[in-house]
Amino acid sequence: MDKKIVFIDFDGTITKVDTCQAMVEKFARDGWQKINELWEEKKLSTRDCANLTFRLFDATLEDIEKLAETMEIDEYFPEFVAQCRQNNYPIYILSDGYDFIIEKILAKFNLQIPYYANKLIYDGCFQIECPHHNEDCRLCGTCKSGLMNRLRSNGEKTVYIGDGSSDTCPASKADIVFAKGSLYKYCQANDIKATYFNNFGDILESGVFKEK
Ligand SMILES: [Mg+2]
Ligand SMILES: [Zn+2]
Repeated sequence: MDKKIVFIDFDGTITKVDTCQAMVEKFARDGWQKINELWEEKKLSTRDCANLTFRLFDATLEDIEKLAETMEIDEYFPEFVAQCRQNNYPIYILSDGYDFIIEKILAKFNLQIPYYANKLIYDGCFQIECPHHNEDCRLCGTCKSGLMNRLRSNGEKTVYIGDGSSDTCPASKADIVFAKGSLYKYCQANDIKATYFNNFGDILESGVFKEK
């Protein structure tokens, strides 16, 4: 059996709803929709999108924390993690969302998984910092393709699992792709081989993770 390394998007893939989306819907004044549209169309970088959106924010860090505590994850995800560990497949979360929220949600569900994400800074107002930015890439906060390249070692097959706009680049470079949402549509439109999934139970049943 091939050795595999697994890269997983966080928002909307591990969590049931996109926490960044939930955050703007709850705390941003009108105007965020247009900014978000430009980001989805890749006309605005994650950093610019976040900083413009934060200007419309009425929230404190505590509000964000409370929102994070209400978030639910895919009910098959813990089983999926256990299966990967049993197979000795390394797992990484690659997120163009925020460290603060990921940290809270992983802790809530007692999961320990290495992750790469943007930093949420709060000093009376919010800011984004992008420690995993790639100089060659204008758009991503967390450049997922760059990380995927750096984290894989020789001979491993890369598995990418995601649902949205920040997943299109790494999905086009991974060996095996599981997709839902707009990522699945993108894969279909661009001839990227991807298996549709509703939840991590589908991925477990796909055979990719249970072959022996
Ligand atoms: Mg997502
Ligand atoms: Zn990038």
